[in-house]
Amino acid sequence: MILVCGGAGYIGSHMIKLLRAEGIDHVVFDNLERGNAPAVKDSRFEKGDLRNRADIARVLDQYPISLVMHFAAYIEVGESVKDPSAFWENNVIAVWNLLEESRKRDIKQIVFSSTAAVYGEPSMIPIPEDHPKNPANPYGETKLAVERMLGGYNDAYGMRSVCLRYFNACGADPAGELGEDHRPETHLIPRVLLAAAGRAPEITVFGTDYETPDGTCIRDYVHVSDIADAHLLAIRYLENGGESNQFNLGSGNGFSVKEVISAAKEVVGHDFPVGYGSRRAGDPARLIADSAKARQVLGWEPKFDDVKVCVQHAWNWMQANPDGYPR
Ligand code: UDP
Repeated sequence: MILVCGGAGYIGSHMIKLLRAEGIDHVVFDNLERGNAPAVKDSRFEKGDLRNRADIARVLDQYPISLVMHFAAYIEVGESVKDPSAFWENNVIAVWNLLEESRKRDIKQIVFSSTAAVYGEPSMIPIPEDHPKNPANPYGETKLAVERMLGGYNDAYGMRSVCLRYFNACGADPAGELGEDHRPETHLIPRVLLAAAGRAPEITVFGTDYETPDGTCIRDYVHVSDIADAHLLAIRYLENGGESNQFNLGSGNGFSVKEVISAAKEVVGHDFPVGYGSRRAGDPARLIADSAKARQVLGWEPKFDDVKVCVQHAWNWMQANPDGYPR
C-alpha cells in the first residue's frame, strides 16, 4: 500500500486519481491546511500533519505501507523568502519525521516532489539533471536539502528514492474532475484565466525586458496529469528494484508569458486586459527542462506537451468550478 502525503493538493489529487484508476491501494495523509478535502474523492483519507511524529506513527502503524510519496510541501517562492522558518519546518523537518518513522518500520521506498528551483539561475538550456544546484530562494534550498537527505538515507540505510523535479506544473484533469485551487493563486495560467473570466481586473506581466525574443520570461509548462503519469512510472521503477535517481519533468518546450496569454485568448475566445509591470524578484529569464532521462529511464511520454491544451483544461475546470473546491 502507498502512503500519499499531500494527496489533497493540486498534484497529489491528480496522482490519487491515477492510483484509483490503476487499482493501486493507497491512503492519503494530509493536514488540509492548503489541500482540498473534496479533491480526495473516494480515496482512503487520514488527516494528520507531518510536523507531528505521532500522526505519522499512527497511520504507519495502521496500514501496511511499502512506499511513501511526498507532495506535502509549501511551494511559493515569495512566501519562502518572507518566512523561511515555516519552509524549513514543513519542507525539511517534517520530511525528516516521515523518513524516520518510515525507517523504523522498514519502509524503504520514497517518491519525492522536487523542483526546477534546485538549479537556480541556469548556466545552460535545456537544463539536464547534472546541472549545478544553486537554489536562489529558501523554497529551492529546502527541496535540495531533502534531495541530499535522501542521498544519505540511500547510502546508509538502503532507502531508495526517486526525486522528480517539476518545471511549471499546470493544467487540470482532462475529465474535469480536478483542478488547481491555490489561495491565494500566484501561478501564471490560473491568474491569466481569472483575468479572462473577469474575476481579476487584468493579468499583469512581470517584466518585459528579459533577454528573450519577446522580452518576457520563458517557462516549461508541464501538464499535471503527465506529472502524475511520471510518478506512476517512478513507483514501478522503485518496485522493480531501480536505484535512487532524480528526473526532470518538463515538456521540453518553452513558452513566454506573452505566448501563454495569447494561447489563453484563443482558448477563451475573447480579449481581456493585460498590464505590464516590473520584474518579480528572483525570476530567471528562461527555464526549460531536458527531460530526456525521464523518457529514457522511466519510459515517460508526456501526452499534453502543448501549453494551449494545458490552458484549455485549466479553463474547463475554472468554468465548471468558478469558486474552486467547496470549503
Ligand atoms: N508571471 C506573470 N504574472 C503573474 C504570474 C506569473 O508575469 O501574475 C510570470 C512569472 O514572472 C514567471 C512566469 O509567469 O516568469 C511563471 O510564473 P509562475 O509563478 O506560474 O511559475 P514559476 O516559474 O515562478 O514557478
